Amino acid sequence: MTIEKHEFKTEVKQLLDLMIHSLYSHKEVFLRELISNASDAIDKIRYESLTNKDIAEGDTNWKIKISTDKDKGTITISDNGIGMTKDEAVQALGTIAHSGTKEFLKLLQSKEVKDNPELIGQFGVGFYSSFMIADSITVISRKAGSQQNAAVKWVSAADGAYTVEYTEKTSRGTDVILHLKEEEKKYLESWEIRGIVKKYSDFIEHPVVIEVEKEKDSEISKGSKVKVTEEETLNSMKAIWLKDKSEVTNEEYNEFYKHVSHDFAEPLRVIHYKAEGTSEFNSLLYIPSKAQFNLFYKDFKIGPTLYVKRVQIMEHCEDLIPQYLRFVRGVVDSSDLPLNVSREILQNNRQVETIKKSITKKVLDTLDEMKKHDYDKYLKFYAEFGRLLKEGIHFDFSRKETIADLLLFKSTKTEINEFTTLQKYVDGMREGQEDIYYIIAENMESALKSPYLETFKEKDYEVLIMMDEVDEIVMSSLEYKGKRLKSAIRGDIKLDKAEAKEADKAGKKYKKLIDLIKDKLKDNVKDVRLSGRLKDSACCLVADEGDMDPQMERIMKAMGQDIPQTKRILEINPVHPLFEAMNRIFEKDKESGLLSEYVELLYDQAIIIEGGKPKDPAAFAKTITRLMVERAGS
Ligand code: ADP
Repeated sequence: MTIEKHEFKTEVKQLLDLMIHSLYSHKEVFLRELISNASDAIDKIRYESLTNKDIAEGDTNWKIKISTDKDKGTITISDNGIGMTKDEAVQALGTIAHSGTKEFLKLLQSKEVKDNPELIGQFGVGFYSSFMIADSITVISRKAGSQQNAAVKWVSAADGAYTVEYTEKTSRGTDVILHLKEEEKKYLESWEIRGIVKKYSDFIEHPVVIEVEKEKDSEISKGSKVKVTEEETLNSMKAIWLKDKSEVTNEEYNEFYKHVSHDFAEPLRVIHYKAEGTSEFNSLLYIPSKAQFNLFYKDFKIGPTLYVKRVQIMEHCEDLIPQYLRFVRGVVDSSDLPLNVSREILQNNRQVETIKKSITKKVLDTLDEMKKHDYDKYLKFYAEFGRLLKEGIHFDFSRKETIADLLLFKSTKTEINEFTTLQKYVDGMREGQEDIYYIIAENMESALKSPYLETFKEKDYEVLIMMDEVDEIVMSSLEYKGKRLKSAIRGDIKLDKAEAKEADKAGKKYKKLIDLIKDKLKDNVKDVRLSGRLKDSACCLVADEGDMDPQMERIMKAMGQDIPQTKRILEINPVHPLFEAMNRIFEKDKESGLLSEYVELLYDQAIIIEGGKPKDPAAFAKTITRLMVERAGS
């Protein structure tokens, strides 16, 4: 029989390296991970056997067995689950199939993981965690439905490579044989194993048994003893989501979370509830404490594990939860769905739709409750997942306002560690203020210094400061309590009716001058008009109502998108003395070269104010210098 030698993929090598050398303090979790995999494998064949009875070949005595061999120094975890073919073993145990893996590993290699080895667990390192305690691992597996001699033997010592070969295995399923490191031999003791299973895997639905040797009275020769091996079941097998809340300890909740989420860290919040009425189901959901590393990748698997009457149907049922709550993990156990439900049926199923609605509401209610009564925790949640909620505003029309109430914002009025909400904003609106204003900015500092906010400041209007990439798309279409959200740097702003009248007057007075400016700048700007947002500055550039914010345009360009340059509007401050001065020159001589220069400078200034660069910096500097010299007199 040929033995094939394979190199691990680079990611796996790096991961193993981290795994083996990280200072992870709970090495015993390897057993939880292997039991979890075994249980998943049993769930898979159990589910398949619902529609294909033959596949189980009469062996439906689901079981996970732990056995030890003190002489060889091995501990073996066996299951009669679905098993793996040779190709599947190569794929499953030799590669990591998530996108974002490279980025995540880079992060892990940084300082952060040294202080926080638990981070590794987010990755679902599952199987590989055994290399923390084993110097070599052998996996022997036979896939359901395949021949005895088509089993696979996979062996690795985590030295960058593994071997695979065909082998024989009499029964279906998988044996994972760990050859323990010298200093980890304690895992050969049955009391140690018992404790770990009880602690981490008590809720596993299938029996986890250990083989123990016992002495019994001999039936053949009276008075003498014989040694027999007996199986002892270690776990209580109670589905914890079916239990009453009062019967479940925090520790049990946390351990179950780690099982379903493959996260090593504690969850931030547990949501355990039973729905009755039109749809009956039990659910145990969790909000993780950290955003999953691949949350923003396409292949991120969303949705809780779906059970029907305690039988696992599928691991990630994406029809049960909206995308914007995809961070939620857990299980849903329905009493109404048929056992042989398929993905296709789930997609347009009314029951499923009802469950989804109920879960969505429950999660949003929980967040609202956290925000009101456990604010510090909510801040932690928001730092990790706030961005996702904004997706909800965009996609979940019927719950727009509920979600909007969960958002936190920085504003021109918030203190350093403080946030405001839309409700607070609306409560603090000034007399005569009709809209909610926001500015999209890269950071607080540039927002606070922005000349676009001069009038807002003067009138004591609060302006929300948006620093998320998604804000532009989401906020411009949001209405809150009948009030529009308006960008402070886009469209025409008239905060004050009396002032608007004044401006109108000025507009008439300067009409010809403005027309001239418009004509001279026609290649650069869409329009020139009087500004209702400037106080001290002479002019600024703004985007037209329907156009994109320049900040957004910059971001999208940076992301490599091909965005055509949109012409903007030059707004001038009608009460700035500059225009009186320009008007004087204009009235004397429309053709004045000085006036042309002023117009150019006006435009360049506006560009500089928003953080851009004049078209021709050298010419700009030259003109300024000349004016400086002239001003000083000779
Ligand atoms: P995860 O369980 O998060 O997918 P693991 O590294 O623990 O990651 O396992 C990788 C894959 O190996 C599993 O998804 C499964 O396909 C396969 N596998 C592991 N253990 C078993 C087992 N006992 N029986 C069948 N397949 C298994």
